[in-house]
Amino acid sequence: MQLYNSLTGRKEKFKPADAGRPTMYVCGPTVYNHPHIGNARPAVVFDVLFRLLERRYGDVVYVRNVTDIDDKIMAAAEAEGVATEVVAERYGAAYHADMAALNVLPPTVEPYATGYVPQMIAMIERLIARGHAYEAERHVLFHVPSFPAYGALSRHSREEMIEGARVEVAPYKRDAADFVLWKPSSAGQPGWDSRWGRGRPGWHIECSAMVEAHLGVTVDIHGGGLDLKFPHHENEIAQSVCAHEGAPLARLWLHNGFLDVEREKMSKSLGNVVLVRDLLREAPGEAIRYALLAAHYRKPLDWSEASLARAKHALDRLYLTLSELPGPNEPEPEAPMPQSLVAALEDDLNTPRAFAELFALARAANASTDDSERRELKGQLLAGGSLLGLLQQDPETWLKTTGKAEIDAAEVERLIELRAAARKSKDFEEADRIRDQLAAEGVILEDQPGRTRWRLAG
Ligand code: AMP
Ligand code: ZN
Repeated sequence: MQLYNSLTGRKEKFKPADAGRPTMYVCGPTVYNHPHIGNARPAVVFDVLFRLLERRYGDVVYVRNVTDIDDKIMAAAEAEGVATEVVAERYGAAYHADMAALNVLPPTVEPYATGYVPQMIAMIERLIARGHAYEAERHVLFHVPSFPAYGALSRHSREEMIEGARVEVAPYKRDAADFVLWKPSSAGQPGWDSRWGRGRPGWHIECSAMVEAHLGVTVDIHGGGLDLKFPHHENEIAQSVCAHEGAPLARLWLHNGFLDVEREKMSKSLGNVVLVRDLLREAPGEAIRYALLAAHYRKPLDWSEASLARAKHALDRLYLTLSELPGPNEPEPEAPMPQSLVAALEDDLNTPRAFAELFALARAANASTDDSERRELKGQLLAGGSLLGLLQQDPETWLKTTGKAEIDAAEVERLIELRAAARKSKDFEEADRIRDQLAAEGVILEDQPGRTRWRLAG
């Protein structure tokens, strides 16, 4: 299996330290609001990786935390006039419900940050003892110049590093890039006693302590969204490496690309934040999952109503094929996995290629007149689907209850034009991204001199 390591900027062969027990840590949600579709992207992407690792290695330890103490949670609690626990519990439950609707499996362990404050305090004490952190005005700060390797993951300049620590400008910082490990809580705020006074942890130390508590010093894979690379992951690395005598925090760093909505960055001020719970009123969770996986995880993903409709349409066609094939509708435990689909996923989680393989299987099944072959192909479709967390419903139920989505031909034409424009300006990566995404949604492009034609796969 090959995975792209953000730390080295290369695809690397995945080799867990213990092939009997690969470990993966993914930074989970801060629970102060309903998850939006961007929050769902890492959950779904790393769920596919979890399934893939389980298939190959059996026993995988996948830890995805919940950040249940944070200034944003405190602000939400204050706005609503309730305790922080109430906010965290409500939105933690909302996160679980929404992710379950997207067929995201629960991770092996789901630690809540508030359960690990003593471990965080112990790690901070170790960092102080080793000269990597200092106390100042009831805060404890990590001293960035004490760790010369700081910045290796994001390759940021000193100016960008200071900008990253900007939220915590304070006169007591020894260096402008220093970041908070511990901060004081006022009387009304949640806090824990420590020898620096009553306070609470900074966000970054939470993950370092939870990784250590569950997975030890070095994990095989550490993941999260691209926005976490800096400063969050850079800071996690600094804390953990300095607390562990230089041992690396992770062998492999994986980051999913960002999701935009109708080609705009999602933001509260633009009023274009799309919540998963609202989408679930419009479309089956499986279609939302499909649309999230239709782009390669490292590429940007442009979320739109049309991309969701195409995902729904692609599933309609796959379920229609399944409904017409003989044999059970559940994958049989020893059904053979379609090897080309596994190969696509083991090549840095190439989900668009994996989807194209599903359509190739469907096409072969539709074309076949041999019942035993049709049965066998159905088994492969179901087995491949299970690896992606798709196609596990009764086809008849899907076809009856979800309503047929129409493919929006005008929208496909528009994307073909966007791709032509990208090619003209030699942005071949963007052109390929559009082609792959359409292919994953079951739309095949055929370039001809001067024009591009399209047809439906399967
Ligand atoms: P948060 O709860 O804000 O810490 O985010 C939880 C996860 O969602 C993190 O891994 C973020 O990187 C990821 N995330 C947030 N917004 C987006 C987005 N628009 N696209 C992709 N991933 C995102
Ligand atoms: Zn983290």
